Amino acid sequence: MIDPITPIAERLATVRLRVARAAESAGRSPGAVRIIAVTKTMPVEAARAAYDAGARDFGENRIQEGTAKIAAFGPSDAVWHLIGHLQTNKARPAARDFGIIHAIDSVRIAEAVAREATALGRAIDVLLEVNVAAEESKYGFTPEDALVSSGNITRLDGLRVIGLMTVAPLVADPEDARLVFRALRLLGERVRERVGNPNVWHLSMGMSNDVDVAIAEGATMVRIGRAIFGERPA
Ligand SMILES: *Cc1c(COP(=O)(O)O)cnc(C)c1O
Repeated sequence: MIDPITPIAERLATVRLRVARAAESAGRSPGAVRIIAVTKTMPVEAARAAYDAGARDFGENRIQEGTAKIAAFGPSDAVWHLIGHLQTNKARPAARDFGIIHAIDSVRIAEAVAREATALGRAIDVLLEVNVAAEESKYGFTPEDALVSSGNITRLDGLRVIGLMTVAPLVADPEDARLVFRALRLLGERVRERVGNPNVWHLSMGMSNDVDVAIAEGATMVRIGRAIFGERPA
């Protein structure tokens, strides 16, 4: 019989080692990189196995799947990260169930989340998603819009802007994504200056195939699915 638990714990251990190595070779502390275990398409048992192996940060890209998993999950000390595009009509469950929203990609969705969070009496941490490489298929602010909009979004009650997020283009050689990660870091510095808030310092970037390069370029949150849970069903 296939034991579904051991492989996840082992894979997670391997990912931790990989993250630590990448951080150390960049002269950074491994503790400065938060690993988000991306459980999308995986059953709640997979999330529990990762939790039992020490994971506390989990990522989902769809509201419906995410809220169902969160409700079924159990442990309350886990932080759930919404890493996919959010529609305004789903702002309420997003603000209710998730700890951090990574994919704020318009002022409109920022305002909707801020409104719902305020109604719930909370302030929610968010990152602005940036479509650095200007890909047609991707959501996200252009770098210039992120810079301009960051001021308005930072002023909304109910939100705390803590950084920027990007999904790099799918490339065969992760080195080819380096300039995208670097651009996000440099944009993060400009946004921080513009809004005058030192808390805007997180960079959510790096996935299973390009995490090492992302960490070398300053990632503080990496979103890892397949390297922990295996290939997703097609
Ligand atoms: C699925 C997903 C990930 C994880 O990708 P893997 O290649 O499985 O590591 C990271 N970020 C976002 C936004 C995703 O949708």
